[in-house]
Amino acid sequence: MADKSYNAFEMAQSQFDRVAKLLELDEATKELLRYNLREYHVSIPVRMDDGKVKVFRGFRVQHNDARGPAKGGIRFHPMETIDTVRALAMWMTWKCAVVDIPLGGGKGGVICDPHNLSMREQELICRGWIRQLAKDMGPIRDVPAPDVMTTGQHMLWMLDEFETIHGQRLPGFITGKPVGMGGSLGRTEATGYGVIFTVREALKELNLPPGDTTASVQGFGNVAQYAIELYQQIWGKVVCVSCWDQKDQISYSFAKKDGIDLNALRGITDHFGGIEKDKAKKLGYEVLPGDAWIEQPVEILMPCALENQITPETVKKVHAAVKFVVEGANGPTTTEADAVLKDRGIYLIPDFLANAGGVTCSYFEQVQSNMNYYWDKDEVLGKLDSKMTSAFLAVSELARERKLYMRDAAYVIAINRVAQASKDRGWV
Ligand code: NAD
Repeated sequence: MADKSYNAFEMAQSQFDRVAKLLELDEATKELLRYNLREYHVSIPVRMDDGKVKVFRGFRVQHNDARGPAKGGIRFHPMETIDTVRALAMWMTWKCAVVDIPLGGGKGGVICDPHNLSMREQELICRGWIRQLAKDMGPIRDVPAPDVMTTGQHMLWMLDEFETIHGQRLPGFITGKPVGMGGSLGRTEATGYGVIFTVREALKELNLPPGDTTASVQGFGNVAQYAIELYQQIWGKVVCVSCWDQKDQISYSFAKKDGIDLNALRGITDHFGGIEKDKAKKLGYEVLPGDAWIEQPVEILMPCALENQITPETVKKVHAAVKFVVEGANGPTTTEADAVLKDRGIYLIPDFLANAGGVTCSYFEQVQSNMNYYWDKDEVLGKLDSKMTSAFLAVSELARERKLYMRDAAYVIAINRVAQASKDRGWV
């Protein structure tokens, strides 16, 4: 979660304003798209394990649903703010539009810290959040999914509450369900693999064989681990990863010049994506300060941890060898640092394109749940590859044709699609 001085919604709006100007959008369309269509603020009373009632605050924001039902995760975090949820809902709209899936954008959050809550208390928060919002969400209205500190188990409690209220089985209401309970095969890999489908295509454009490239990765969680897995399968070499150390409350980078051993590192990593420092040393890794990942002399930087990491300060450390940055995380580059990357001619695959594999696979899950018929993993990943590849090619072609920065090209495509859908519906 970002520090207080950083307002994600202001950043999302300023990115939108820049592209709205480029697209010469009319005033009404701008006014419609730079705000959310609907937002809900709810209070969730929960009888805690000690018998006392505690009231939790929660949100659901539906940014735009002109192209289809709103779609987006629900986060549990003690520092959650409505502005973060608003920004993430808006980014979901652009993400679904850029990969051309028939969904809009939404996001939810509850201010709470699961570290200090029993499973029973978490279940009651999930059920309470649904009870407050059940009328305003649904498989053809707004479809939630797991996000920060929520899992497949939380989704099942929410689904159960939703189905109980509606007296029907509606598995397409929520995604990120465990496999066997309506979840899709391939969902775990989808975001990280999706990142590398775009990297593979970008390397072709840059005439760089993947085997001749090295990468440095921030993060060693879900996105990072599967991105590394597929990148290594196409012969790329990862020489550094960085992660958060819960015990020391700082981040470290782990470097190995001849390439990291993914499975060995996985074996010494907790389920929050934290690598055990002492064990890594024993395996021959150099343990460096947290920011060292950004200073590596590699062709590719993959920020796959959290927002606001490539800043005016850290961007100065980006090595001259770096040819491109692929944003696996949401919002890892601040507006100022982005301008520096652009000036330096560094090729960029923007977050809402690079990490759209997750929502694309969630959409596949929803389709399968609605049909009550499930595909095998190869079919899911094949469909994912084809969606991500065509989205990437459309963005890079536009960038080339109109000499646009890749982030701007991705925004132009996404915003145009949503603006057009809003116009076609007669909203503006
Ligand atoms: P995760 O919780 O599995 O992993 C996060 C990783 O980041 C961990 O390795 C953690 O140690 C590391 N980290 C945290 N703070 C750090 C710091 N200050 N310095 C270095 N490393 C740090 O999360 P994830 O699911 O892999 O998500 C990563 C990013 O990708 C987030 O921005 C998320 O919003 C975005 N994203 C995730 C998905 C998905 O399907 N999981 C989809 C789209 C976008």
